[in-house]
Amino acid sequence: MEFPSCPSCNKDFVRRAHRQGPAEVLFSLFYLYPFRCQLCTQRFLALQWGYRYKRYTPDRREYLRIPVRVHAAFLGEESRGEGTAADISMRGCALATDTRPAQGEVLRLKLDLQNGRPETIEVEAAVVRNVVGRQYGLEFLRIHSREKEQLGKIIEHHLHSRPMQQARLVS
Ligand SMILES: [Zn+2]
Repeated sequence: MEFPSCPSCNKDFVRRAHRQGPAEVLFSLFYLYPFRCQLCTQRFLALQWGYRYKRYTPDRREYLRIPVRVHAAFLGEESRGEGTAADISMRGCALATDTRPAQGEVLRLKLDLQNGRPETIEVEAAVVRNVVGRQYGLEFLRIHSREKEQLGKIIEHHLHSRPMQQARLVS
């Protein structure tokens, strides 16, 4: 089932949100579900007629960041450049670059990772969440399932090849 587009910014970087209060629990019986836009953070209800959501249980890889530094290339609406990515998880990474993407800009991102052999992971959409000097905090909004699977394997590989305490938990 396709998620609805955001009524505020019209983009389709939308995820299901948790139901809040008894009214929303009741609405969900009638297929009216809450969503949150990952870009502008607008929360809204939308009808998904006939669709029941499964309870989502994230695996632990999604919350772990691997302490590696890799080459990264990015292309945005306003900027393009290269840099170094670090603290990579399945949900985002830190990017150091001299080119300056704007806060809120959506980037296509390529990460040159290693999994025994070189492996480039492409993130279809990553948003610049915060900027500190030349350090950019990126959150992955969309990543193709095949690439996500590869990234999961690489994170798994690092978990097994390094002491656990080096992989820090993301809160
Ligand atoms: Zn939006």
